[in-house]
Amino acid sequence: MKTLAFYDTKPYDKQSFEQQLKDTDEIRFKYFENKLNPDTAIMAKGCDGVVAFVNDTIDARTIENLYNNGIQLIAMRCSGYNNIDFKAAYGKIHVLRVPAYSPYAVAEHAIGMLLTLNRKIHRGYNRTKDFNFSLSGLTGFDLHGKTIGVIGTGKIGQKFVDICNGFGMKVLAYDPYPVENLKAEYVSVDELCSQSDIISLHCPLTKDTKYIINDHSIKLMKENAIIINTSRGALIDSEALLEALKSKRVGGAALDVYEEESELFFEDNSDTIIQDDVLARLLSLPNVLVTSHQAFLTNEALEGIAKVTIQNIKDFFDEKRLDNEICYHCTKGGGCKKEHKLRCF
Ligand code: NAD
Repeated sequence: MKTLAFYDTKPYDKQSFEQQLKDTDEIRFKYFENKLNPDTAIMAKGCDGVVAFVNDTIDARTIENLYNNGIQLIAMRCSGYNNIDFKAAYGKIHVLRVPAYSPYAVAEHAIGMLLTLNRKIHRGYNRTKDFNFSLSGLTGFDLHGKTIGVIGTGKIGQKFVDICNGFGMKVLAYDPYPVENLKAEYVSVDELCSQSDIISLHCPLTKDTKYIINDHSIKLMKENAIIINTSRGALIDSEALLEALKSKRVGGAALDVYEEESELFFEDNSDTIIQDDVLARLLSLPNVLVTSHQAFLTNEALEGIAKVTIQNIKDFFDEKRLDNEICYHCTKGGGCKKEHKLRCF
């Protein structure tokens, strides 16, 4: 039996993972509510591996502390991996992830946010709760016939493009690796920003994509453009976005992620004095909609995440080929070692 320390546990995680474990006694999880960071890494002592999530701090110190406590495996229960120092992990701890789980969950949430923000459903909901049935200030626009720009046409971006086509929108796209037969016209980022009524981000956070939405790209945008971000917070320079919203340079923002989210999102901070003035100001605006990194949260996605994470863990300990391993060697163009070694080192 292998034991893994499961960090940043929420009730829905425990439920979906225990459901998948009911027919196996090969693996068990020790559930911790704490996030994984250099200080909490010690909690994994005596375990064989750890299960981690998007806002855990998996830097060189965390990796060193895990390694010194006998950890061989970090099983990420998510697809994004911008919070991991792969260089530090290489040669010490194998890192696996869940590359795909219901891309529909995130694509549909992005559309839900767009519809809510554009048609001001969030404001209408609050008004009618207070028996205020006025429509003033709630005018939106038809999505049909509008141009939407999609940055990143991977698994989620493609589903998002399909939905947008269903609405009768013109779809522009930017991706360094364009997909054939996608019903979208590929253009440069600048063209996409200048021609789109709505821009939706579906690329990973890398050093190339950090602040892909910045002062420059915002200046190119149509007045009243709407920005949707369900990918990673640091794709947007939040201060530049706030300035653009205050000066009415952009029409609105729907944010499921935020660059400084790690200390706040997924937790109830309703009794806390929020110190992040940019987030507080963004939340004060009627044309900003924030959800708490919720786009993945469907039953289908949770089931998919638990299944693939557990399969990754089994494959690791059964010494099978680790197709879902990510490593510094591969990302640096070093070529994949899995062909002959089944794993990255
Ligand atoms: P994916 O790997 O299938 O697709 C990512 C796409 O981005 C690829 O086509 C890639 O070529 C493209 N890309 C890479 N660099 C780019 C650049 N510089 N500019 C434009 N495009 C670029 O990933 P996916 O499953 O579609 O997920 C996309 C992102 O969604 C993830 O990286 C993650 O950050 C985010 N995500 C968020 C949630 C949530 O709950 N909010 C859940 C899952 C994933």
